[in-house]
Amino acid sequence: MSENAAKIRKIGILTSGGDSPGMNAAIRAVTRYALMRGIEVMGIYEGYRGLINGKNYIKKFNAHDVSNIIDEGGTILYSARCPEFKEREGIEKAAKNCRELGIDGLITIGGDGTFRGAYDLSTMFGIPCIGIPGTIDNDITATDYTLGFDTAVNTTMQMIDRLRDTCESHARCYVAEVMGNNAGYIALYSAIAVGAAAVAIKERPFDEDAAIKKMMQSRQAGKRNFIVVVSEGANLDAEELAKKIQAVTASHDMEIETRFARFAHVVRGGSPTLRDRMTAAKMGVAAVDLLLSGKTNMFMCERHGEIVGTDIMVANFADKKYKSTFDPKVAQKFDPSEGEKFNTKVRAEIDSLVAERIAEIDKLLALAENISNYTSIE
Ligand code: ADP
Repeated sequence: MSENAAKIRKIGILTSGGDSPGMNAAIRAVTRYALMRGIEVMGIYEGYRGLINGKNYIKKFNAHDVSNIIDEGGTILYSARCPEFKEREGIEKAAKNCRELGIDGLITIGGDGTFRGAYDLSTMFGIPCIGIPGTIDNDITATDYTLGFDTAVNTTMQMIDRLRDTCESHARCYVAEVMGNNAGYIALYSAIAVGAAAVAIKERPFDEDAAIKKMMQSRQAGKRNFIVVVSEGANLDAEELAKKIQAVTASHDMEIETRFARFAHVVRGGSPTLRDRMTAAKMGVAAVDLLLSGKTNMFMCERHGEIVGTDIMVANFADKKYKSTFDPKVAQKFDPSEGEKFNTKVRAEIDSLVAERIAEIDKLLALAENISNYTSIE
């Protein structure tokens, strides 16, 4: 048993950064399991802001405090962005509150910003922290899955299905801009699931002219409805693309009336799907186990169906390395020599994570492409 393990009698739990469906199921899993292990649980409201403010923002949780939340969207602990927590003074205040309240360790549910904050709290002031990735974007390289993705992509799919109905009736095209931050997962999954004519993501170039040409060929072959899915991070203006599709098709005497829709925060809400509730349960329990076993600076990841803990700094470097392959802003700041601090085995693990993500995007894109053709053989 490590030094931390012997010390943990009371843990705090908070949600921070962008919310996602499944966060409540994770809060419940952590609370119920920790209580079962004889560990006290403190619910911290409004993320790191609550940890800094203390007092009314922190409440002792019993089993009943997490009753009837497993199926609720949002987070009962609320979320907030807290710039103060990026400064040493703010982190120090948070650590002081933890000490005064007897909080020996923290479970933080959020994205990479949340984990970096947890890392600072742990390394500067010795409060062990374990993270659970909660973001609809599925944009954390080290994990195959982030909590909330399945619910958000199902909602996106259902909304596009509805557009498709009306597109078919009126022989229209809809360009649907979907969420995902700089990651194309929501766009790719929803495009495949709705049979979109084309999909544009940040990770790969998008040939607008080729997509329009393909749509015109499909129209000639009898196709009435067209859905084009654009990820919010893609390097193009989706609204302008809609205008271009209509203008170009009109100039070829086969005008496809095209409209634009943006599904923003509406997909961040809603009751979590089975997939998200299962992930919340597994990650919640594993996070408590990891904290109690004396670990810190890690967050729960899903890899090939297994739940494993990953070091926050390893994950952070893997993230930058992967994102530098397609995002010029990340590439500009990326310093490959930072990876030298890791041993050979860890470096190989990072490289394989990056290679897996690249291959995954290509595979999904190819799948979307392969089922978007409209051809018949006489
Ligand atoms: P997400 O966790 O979804 O990525 P943010 O990036 O907004 O969301 O991070 C959530 C919160 O985590 C921030 O408001 C801040 O309090 C804390 N945080 C983010 N980045 C850092 C950092 N580099 N150092 C310390 N705390 C951070």
